Amino acid sequence: MNKNTIPSNISNLSQLLDDGLILCDKNSIVLSSNTIAQNFLSKKILNKNISDFIEINEFKNLEASDLKGDLNDEFHFQINDLIKRSLIIKVKKIDNNLYAILLLDMTLQRNLEKVRRDFVANVSHELKSPLTSLVGFIETLLSGKVHNDLDRNKFLKIMDEEAKRMNRLIDDILSLSKVETEEHITPNTTISLIDPLQHIVTSINERDLKNSKKIILKDLRINSDVQCFISGNTDEINQVFVNLLENAIKYGFDNTDVIVNIEQLQDHEVIIKVINKGEGIPQKYIDRLTERFFRVDKARSRQIGGTGLGLAIVKHILIRHRAQLSINSIPDEETTFSLTFPLVDVK
Ligand code: ADP
Repeated sequence: MNKNTIPSNISNLSQLLDDGLILCDKNSIVLSSNTIAQNFLSKKILNKNISDFIEINEFKNLEASDLKGDLNDEFHFQINDLIKRSLIIKVKKIDNNLYAILLLDMTLQRNLEKVRRDFVANVSHELKSPLTSLVGFIETLLSGKVHNDLDRNKFLKIMDEEAKRMNRLIDDILSLSKVETEEHITPNTTISLIDPLQHIVTSINERDLKNSKKIILKDLRINSDVQCFISGNTDEINQVFVNLLENAIKYGFDNTDVIVNIEQLQDHEVIIKVINKGEGIPQKYIDRLTERFFRVDKARSRQIGGTGLGLAIVKHILIRHRAQLSINSIPDEETTFSLTFPLVDVK
């Protein structure tokens, strides 16, 4: 084969790959590369030494390196560009003057592994704290040192709260892992959005009858007896509304109402806004709210029984329903969670 010619069928085929492919001569000069490889490294790699882009010693001179030339020559490489990419690089010697370098993008896998590691660490930490507190109180009660009924009841009440908190946390972790794994599957049943919403508003208002806060449902659809139908799962949609309404009540100022607006944008979209008056959320945290276990004020969320998973669950359910979430907050004034659902036609 001529020194610098690559069979055109190899060049064309390489464009079909999902991975980066570079062909180099024995002196490490790039003879050809597919677009993916150029996107990873640079558009200007042709005729340059590959080690200018992949800083691995063996790549400076492929012939002189002691690469065995089989695909077991594997390297891990990080590109610190805007997106931090993790690549696995494999080298195959094709003939005395031709080396193929395969770039496998492992970024998604590495990110998923990191998310999973962080999640396990977070869950263990979150479960450990109520458990430590429970064990502490049980030991104190068993020691027989608490003689007074009032103290005993106080301890039992804290233990009851901690046990319930663990229960809520486990329920939320299970919900989250279910909705996350099913996120890519759109539900295939047609349900009304308005019925579950009305039902939940009524039941929260009845439950909180003694409280100073009330949820007011405002239906701004032009013709409000038109039902809004979506492809959805009623239990999951209920969970979205419960989480958002309970947050609006939890984080709202006393003696203020929570407003729910239903507005039909066009024939094929409805926007539901949950609005409360309260301390709100500083702008810098808005993008982080749907992260698992993210709370603006951890102690406050804990004190009012939060798990830090409610909005993460909302996010994944909405993705599954092809709905959009936007959050706006003016601190010390108003916070709005807006949900936009695509509607389906019901004949
Ligand atoms: P939590 O169980 O802590 O309420 P969520 O995932 O439901 O967890 O919410 C995450 C955080 O978002 C809360 O801890 C709180 O800081 C903030 N947040 C959610 N809704 C509101 C709201 N309506 N007003 C102000 N802050 C809110």
